[in-house]
Amino acid sequence: MPTMLKKKPAPKAAAKSAAPAGKKIKRVYFFGAAKAEGNADMKDLLGGKGANLADMTLAGLPVPPGFTITTESCGEYNKANQKMPAGLMDEVRLNVTKVEKATGKKFGDAKNPLLVAARSGAKMSMPGMMDTVLNIGLNDTVVDGLARLSGNERFAYDSYRRLINMFGDTVKGIDHEHFEHELSAVKSEAGVKLDTDLNTQQLKEVVRRYKEVYKKHLGEDFPQDPFVQLAAAIEAVFQSWMGDRAIRYREINEIRGLPGTAVNVQSMVFGNMGDDSATGVAFTRDPATGNNEFYGEFLVNAQGEDVVAGIRTPLECKTEMGKWSQKSWKELLNVKKLLEQRYKDVQDFEFTIEKGKLYMLQTRNGKRTAAAAVKIAVDMAKERLIDEKTAVLRVEPASLDQLLHPMFDPKAKKDVIAKGLPASPGAATGKLAFTAQEAEERVANGEKVLLVRRETEPADIGGMHVAEGILTSTGGMTSHAAVVARGMGTPCVAGAGALNIDVKNRKLTVNGKSYGPNDFLSLDGSTGEIYDGKVPTVKAEMSGPFGVIMKMADKYRTLKIRTNADTPEDAQTARNFGAEGIGLTRTEHMFFDPERIHHMREMILASDVEARKAALKKLLPYQKSDFVGIFKAMNGLPVTIRLLDPPLHEFLPHNEKDQEELGRSLGMSLEQVKNRVSQLHESNPMLGHRGDRLAITYPEILEMQVRAILEAAVEVKKAGIKVAPEIMIPLAGTKAELDYLKKVTVDTADAVFKEAKTKVPYMYGTMIEVPRAAVTADELAETAEFFSFGTNDLTQMTFGYSRDDAGVFLPEYIKKEILERDPFQSLDVGGVGKLVDMAVKLGKQTRPEIKLGICGEHGGDPRSVEFCHKVGLNYVSCSPFRVPIARLAAAQAAIKSEASSGKSKKK
Ligand code: ADP
Ligand code: MG
Ligand code: MG
Repeated sequence: MPTMLKKKPAPKAAAKSAAPAGKKIKRVYFFGAAKAEGNADMKDLLGGKGANLADMTLAGLPVPPGFTITTESCGEYNKANQKMPAGLMDEVRLNVTKVEKATGKKFGDAKNPLLVAARSGAKMSMPGMMDTVLNIGLNDTVVDGLARLSGNERFAYDSYRRLINMFGDTVKGIDHEHFEHELSAVKSEAGVKLDTDLNTQQLKEVVRRYKEVYKKHLGEDFPQDPFVQLAAAIEAVFQSWMGDRAIRYREINEIRGLPGTAVNVQSMVFGNMGDDSATGVAFTRDPATGNNEFYGEFLVNAQGEDVVAGIRTPLECKTEMGKWSQKSWKELLNVKKLLEQRYKDVQDFEFTIEKGKLYMLQTRNGKRTAAAAVKIAVDMAKERLIDEKTAVLRVEPASLDQLLHPMFDPKAKKDVIAKGLPASPGAATGKLAFTAQEAEERVANGEKVLLVRRETEPADIGGMHVAEGILTSTGGMTSHAAVVARGMGTPCVAGAGALNIDVKNRKLTVNGKSYGPNDFLSLDGSTGEIYDGKVPTVKAEMSGPFGVIMKMADKYRTLKIRTNADTPEDAQTARNFGAEGIGLTRTEHMFFDPERIHHMREMILASDVEARKAALKKLLPYQKSDFVGIFKAMNGLPVTIRLLDPPLHEFLPHNEKDQEELGRSLGMSLEQVKNRVSQLHESNPMLGHRGDRLAITYPEILEMQVRAILEAAVEVKKAGIKVAPEIMIPLAGTKAELDYLKKVTVDTADAVFKEAKTKVPYMYGTMIEVPRAAVTADELAETAEFFSFGTNDLTQMTFGYSRDDAGVFLPEYIKKEILERDPFQSLDVGGVGKLVDMAVKLGKQTRPEIKLGICGEHGGDPRSVEFCHKVGLNYVSCSPFRVPIARLAAAQAAIKSEASSGKSKKK
């Protein structure tokens, strides 16, 4: 065993506290015969699967009887250094007896055998965990009993070989390939292609060989005692919670603080009893489009994961089930209705039909694409299955990103090379990566890749996460690739059978044409089409149900949503997405244009005030025309403009050739230019000569900018368009700075208005981005008419983390759970948030009507938006593409806080 995997000795105290003496803990919850000890609200303790099995039982749905071992038991087991909690197996035996009573069968009894499944199931569905073990309870004598009882010897041996395989593989860690190898050998000796074509004798041979594989790898026989099988399976489920795949899955999905997985032990029903039996998975509505149609697949004479494993291609329920059995099809349509009425949401469920009788094996809220989530929420509100507020809460704000992103240009020429199933919508283009690991490595090196696999498996999760799109050659709409891709919002085309994928030689061949790791393909997850090369994309639009849910959201939110925009185009995009103003226009971006940067540099290199003023004069018309464009685009909505912020040396050339050229054009020697550049060099520029410090030292810069803003405002006003400029001072830390700059601002404004013979109302305010500004906000508010929280710098300075350098250590902090999440992405409520809250209160003390907003990156982060709502800001400002996300997040924040204040009032 590699040392890394060695068990850590458990601290004694932990082992003790895991099983407190005296007090009896209930660790097992029974369900069966229309009664259940658990219910749908017990997902923490029973896991999602267990809670819903109990609930479906209570609802009178046909659920095979069984019991659930609590998630806490799994926690105890792992805490106690992988030791079964004392008494657990006694409780299990007791519940097996109950299952025996409910089914009229007996575990381990060859005359009337009860078989069970052991199934994992955490609070949230986790594809990283252990595979299910079916048919537990079979052994050399029971198998014959099962054959006699069912009158189907073939079925009995098919079940037995599956048990040895699943038990050997998932419980004992024997590589599945060894079993697969023997199965293929028997098949080819028999001259058949499909598992279903093997006869009883051949299946007996498979069983014989499987037992040999088992013995060869473990040095012992396959266990014949059913309780030994069951206990080992339960332990394996407990252990899988701490397996690499599961840990990685929790990391990626930010699942923390759960004790473990539950184990569901449930009596078996058989989809492999013959051609009147089947197994399948289904959604109550289409999870890709949201259409209100039964959406599922089934396989006749099959068991368990056959449907999702892509061994045989499953049949579509909608078109094929009725032909196979009208009765089952009608029953399933009825189940669709019942499930939605009970759970008020789309259900993803699993079923088995044994000799024509339908059984329910699982149900949960279905994962869906953003487009489907929106459509389903809107439709269900229309159907009065849910109310509007619930509909608004149903859509994950961040997922809207998928709808705002480009799709393939419908007019572009496309060369379709193959077609698969439209498994997860969206457009993706990239080079081909043939393994998940390759995908991860290449993406880390800055490449964009499509992950191309025969089929994906849980171990591929990392590569799937980073890929632009996923392409598989086998598997259906409910295959692993399809389900996971939809959950991630990654475009996916599945089951494109024409593709021949050669992993070893990193080659994909289709209709005689080959593609290697450096060739581009494009895939459309909405149509299933795969195109040669790169296909151009076009912008998305906000129409249909998307528009409806946005309108609903607007009804409930109280926060205003502004945007960060530096150009009229961005301003327009944001307005189309519903922005209600600009919260941040960064003026420095306007200076980087090649035409303008020259004047900027001239200004910076100026040796005295006069020369600087002359250079600034040349910049003025450019700034002014930018502002005119933005004011017009915003048509009377407020526009906050931040004055020059970055350190000046960022504008200067740093290579000698450019410096020489600059010197020549300004009549300076290279020496002089170099001197000035080195003069401006700072050892800590983020804390150096930047922000309002520039305007304090060079007031003429502020003068020019204020003049440009207000001259533009006057011009637009004269053209009959309303304007509402807000002049914002960056980085101030003291009231005195604001006072000093206010005088220059007011004098300049007065001069502009006098010249123009008209006035425009404007506001004067500041960003709060230095901790001192936050703690003296009461003083700053005497001068500032508004605050805008610049949470990027405020986070940087509160933590003392340089944003540009934090990439080295922040991921480690998150991995080690020292920080819960990246504070630059999601506002640190406990620290930075405290400063914001303090500044809000202090600011309002001095100036009750003070306008408050946030313009950092956090303005588009749903969690941060919720915080902004709570502390009472007037608006959040975010990048144009995040405006719809912020609108929805703001509505959800309002609905949630209303609900919780309603609750606390009731108390
Ligand atoms: P997962 O969480 O990976 O979906 P499940 O525990 O749901 O794992 O089991 C996977 C599959 O095994 C199910 O879809 C079903 O086909 C089969 N299965 C599970 N329990 C039973 C059972 N009691 N009888 C028959 N088949 C079962
Ligand atoms: Mg599984
Ligand atoms: Mg399942």
